[in-house]
Amino acid sequence: MSHTARQFILSLEGVNKTFDGYKAISDLNFYMDEGELRVLIGPNGAGKSTLLDLITGRTRPDTGKIEFGKDINLIRLNEYEINRLGIGRKFQTPSVYIDHTVFENVLLSLDGRRGVFASLFFRLKPEQRDRIHEILTLIGLADKGETKAGNLAHGQKQWLEIGMLLAQNPRLLLVDEPAAGMTDEETARTGELLLSLSGKHSILVIEHDMAFVRQLARKVTVLHQGTVLCEGTVDEVQNNPRVVEVYLGRKHERKTA
Ligand code: ADP
Ligand code: MG
Repeated sequence: MSHTARQFILSLEGVNKTFDGYKAISDLNFYMDEGELRVLIGPNGAGKSTLLDLITGRTRPDTGKIEFGKDINLIRLNEYEINRLGIGRKFQTPSVYIDHTVFENVLLSLDGRRGVFASLFFRLKPEQRDRIHEILTLIGLADKGETKAGNLAHGQKQWLEIGMLLAQNPRLLLVDEPAAGMTDEETARTGELLLSLSGKHSILVIEHDMAFVRQLARKVTVLHQGTVLCEGTVDEVQNNPRVVEVYLGRKHERKTA
């Protein structure tokens, strides 16, 4: 099937990346539709985080094409420019301003103002206040606005960071192992949150926990040795003999992120 006629939010073609002779990404082709919620799985070292590094401009590919939306070539842009285009990334460990309240954390992220502490001293516009409350409700922290971010539970910090990304209104959200270290209940709520955001945003989630992947129940891409091993529904990939082989003996490792 030719991909050239379709309009993707994100497309990578023939991408290669070598680190000191080690091929981390190898002839990778990867496409995402607008509004899609995609789950990326694969054993440790498969190149999942490197894929996010390549999309966000943190790492440059040796060869290949990386495009965002219609004809935006990401390869020529730096991290800041790529972020400003509407690509937000959530790293595995939450990075919130622990001495600031939950409300202030979201405020600092509004309109790409993250890091501009001066914004705390300006009068808030009513629409900004409304937007922050809307985000806090979405991430389940509506009653935690005045709580110092440092006092939140681990799961709540992760949601806050997702909220901080949402404040930038990204078209594409990249989320690396959001459920790592979460309780089962927090994991389920994270799944609900991501599902509620799909459609409005395109979301790429890296995840190990297969119960969580099943909850999201969307198209799954399996990465192995820097390339796509297979794509399909959760059942399709779990029953794929090549996937079973790759994961064989890794069952215990997988749950712990
Ligand atoms: P995953 O996220 O699937 O576990 P990674 O993308 O983190 O895998 O890593 C893939 C491989 O690339 C690993 O062998 C890793 O050590 C290597 N790698 C990733 N980033 C770098 C880097 N900046 N410098 C050198 N090696 C790297
Ligand atoms: Mg990783």
